[in-house]
Amino acid sequence: MQNISELLVQEIGEDRILTSEHMNRHTTFRIGGPADVFAVPRTVEEAVEIVRICREQGVPFYVIGNGSNLLVSDEGYRGVIVQIYKNMSEISVIGDTMTVQAGAMLSVMAKRALEHGLAGFEFASGIPGTVGGAVVMNAGAYGGEMKDVLEEVTVLTEDGAVKAVPAEELELGYRHSVIPQKGWIVLGAKLRFQEGDSKEISARMEEMKERRVSKQPLDLPSAGSTFKRPEGNFAGKLIMEAGLRGFSVGGAQVSEKHCGFVVNRGGATAEDVYRLIGEVTARVREHSGITLEPEIKMLGTFPEG
Ligand SMILES: Cc1cc2nc3c(=O)[nH]c(=O)nc-3n(C[C@H](O)[C@H](O)[C@H](O)COP(=O)(O)OP(=O)(O)OC[C@H]3O[C@@H](n4cnc5c(N)ncnc54)[C@H](O)[C@@H]3O)c2cc1C
Repeated sequence: MQNISELLVQEIGEDRILTSEHMNRHTTFRIGGPADVFAVPRTVEEAVEIVRICREQGVPFYVIGNGSNLLVSDEGYRGVIVQIYKNMSEISVIGDTMTVQAGAMLSVMAKRALEHGLAGFEFASGIPGTVGGAVVMNAGAYGGEMKDVLEEVTVLTEDGAVKAVPAEELELGYRHSVIPQKGWIVLGAKLRFQEGDSKEISARMEEMKERRVSKQPLDLPSAGSTFKRPEGNFAGKLIMEAGLRGFSVGGAQVSEKHCGFVVNRGGATAEDVYRLIGEVTARVREHSGITLEPEIKMLGTFPEG
């Protein structure tokens, strides 16, 4: 990795390229071993350049935002992590349209929408991710999802082109988009909202915040809902019914407050979380016949079975 890191330093600058960077500093789980190289582009041009160099050198790379839906293995990542985050987070609003860079945080965007009296983004105000990650996941909450407000994204394609793609072409579904499959990297997005009443927008945001605070274990590190919602059911309910509230493996635990969340009670390893997920899946299947699927993305190598 010496070579790639030197190349990137040459092109992008020493302050943007870190080596052996521990991923527990960049995930909300506070878990994850070292990434060989950790690149923090400031501009679209730098992001494009980093990806071009990785591709040219045949070095694996992985793009992250706030790492809020991510479990990185204890061995870390052999390759380059490209973090598109606060460093690339410009937001502009014209009329009912918000144009953002991929690293903009949903919470900041929701505040800006409120300031402009724009409704329709309240659902996203408490999701602790970037818009890049949210588009990839089609993030959603309380009856709203990115699909409802997204007009278009700007992506870097596998052949190195930067192009605008209309939202309809992203196959946005429940926690799904076609973006990973296509190997695209989100560089920016355009969203459209409706004119609304600031007081009402603010009240809805406050109400959703209260619901989150009262129901979710926000005091402990996690990656949000660990499992996808099975059709016609709720992962948390199934886990609770299987008697797994508070069940733990090492430092990883099924939250006592909300069984749909796996939390890091302190010192959890990625392997703890991984084994816990396996055990919960097996016991829920045994109890209900339903197979849970993880919502969180896993990066790096994990033990077999
Ligand atoms: C306390 C808590 C509550 C949460 N509540 C919700 C909720 O209500 N609803 C919900 O949907 N989610 C929720 N989440 C999960 C998470 O916040 C969302 O999925 C969020 O959209 C992920 O954004 P991120 O920037 O953190 O992405 P990351 O976790 O960094 O990445 C997620 C995926 O997106 C990819 N990705 C990220 N940025 C880019 C980019 N620019 N281009 C291409 N690929 C990219 C990554 O490769 C990865 O596959 C919650 C998480 C926590 C910790």
